[in-house]
Amino acid sequence: MDDAAYNELVSSLTPYEEAGGVKTYTNTVSLACPACEQPFDDLVVCRNDLNSLELSKVLDLCVTTHNDDVLLFTHQ
Ligand SMILES: [Zn+2]
Repeated sequence: MDDAAYNELVSSLTPYEEAGGVKTYTNTVSLACPACEQPFDDLVVCRNDLNSLELSKVLDLCVTTHNDDVLLFTHQ
């Protein structure tokens, strides 16, 4: 994903939490996921080289990258 697309995406989302190099945004405006084109629930930006995620639910994930960050789009 290029800078323009990333900046547009993030500016439309609501920051939810940031911890340990992982920043989460909530999709309150039903934006479409760039990978599957269905609305996603959250965007998870993994900023560190290595990140661990603890998932509390079973989620479908779509994945892309922005620079060296991994972006996860979650779907319940
Ligand atoms: Zn998706």
